[in-house]
Amino acid sequence: MKAKINRRKLLRTFKEVAAIYGPGKRERDVADYISSRLERLWPVSEDGAGDAIDGDAGNLLVQIEGEGEPVLFVAHMDTVEPCAGVKTKVEDGYVMSGGDTILGADDRAAVAALVELAEAAARMRARRPLELLFTVAEEIGLLGAKHADYAAVTGKMAFVFDASEPPGFAVVAAPGSELVTATFHGRAAHAGIEPEKGINAIKMAASAVATMRLGRIDHETTGNVGLISGGRATNIIPERAEIKGEVRSHDPSKLAAHVAHINEEIKKAAAESGGDAEISWTQAYVSYRLDEDAPPVALFRRAARAAGLEPKFVAGGGGSDANVLNARGIPSIVIGCGMENPHTTDERIAAASLEKLAELATALATTA
Ligand SMILES: [Zn+2]
Repeated sequence: MKAKINRRKLLRTFKEVAAIYGPGKRERDVADYISSRLERLWPVSEDGAGDAIDGDAGNLLVQIEGEGEPVLFVAHMDTVEPCAGVKTKVEDGYVMSGGDTILGADDRAAVAALVELAEAAARMRARRPLELLFTVAEEIGLLGAKHADYAAVTGKMAFVFDASEPPGFAVVAAPGSELVTATFHGRAAHAGIEPEKGINAIKMAASAVATMRLGRIDHETTGNVGLISGGRATNIIPERAEIKGEVRSHDPSKLAAHVAHINEEIKKAAAESGGDAEISWTQAYVSYRLDEDAPPVALFRRAARAAGLEPKFVAGGGGSDANVLNARGIPSIVIGCGMENPHTTDERIAAASLEKLAELATALATTA
């Protein structure tokens, strides 16, 4: 018989971990909670990601010995704001916050399920070796995953417990994303006395944005300008303006093509008004798409059925730690945890979803 996760204890663990303050780069108390629960049972190590990103904690790696090929389970410790003083309550089978903070089921539901899994693991028969990677600063750019110590990781495939779909769903494809900052340089002049001498940088930025194709470009590509700033006063022709935006695509060549389009519109707008523009792009994350025979997809299918769930595979629209892991050569999918309205004060999770998540984690650990 397989060891079962204790439902009441799981719910208690979730409430405890949800109550800990821990936005990106401030995960110290979350990391200490996990260590205090697990370090008597399994080796727990912390990498240097905290120093690398100027945070107060690194990623935690819990190594659980077993038989066969090791797999990696990932959950992030940070939550978005407002996350100070989270008070949980259970109503109509749902766990929710008091309404003035997020709940933080994203991703503390996964943290709780994995802590409970680790405590139950010693009693599970025919269990493969497990590595639990609790990452920092996922919400602010996947920084923990990007700075993790992969020399210590032996898992040949990974399951990132971080999708908002219900348990049973898995995200097997995600877009790549590039972020742009463009700074337009014009020339300042008195707007009333000698406007002829000025070159208006805000006008440059505006005409660049006006001619860019933005929004949904095609079924797998999007573009956005989300920030604009510049200027000093109404009577000064602005010499500087800045825009920030992003491009996402599931298709790397479409991503590159849309990046080129945005570059062109920026340069054209600057040139037409006699100014210039500096453009800098940074890669946020790389796209991935796993086929149906990929090891984590195949294991997920078997494990979901063993847990009484019908496996469903979807493409996602955002980045997660799985983008970083896939780019590092560890085939990874993101599994649904059942959090609803994440990143809002209406966030909630069904107690039944939390239990299903823990059962699914057990099945992934033990299904042949
Ligand atoms: Zn998340």
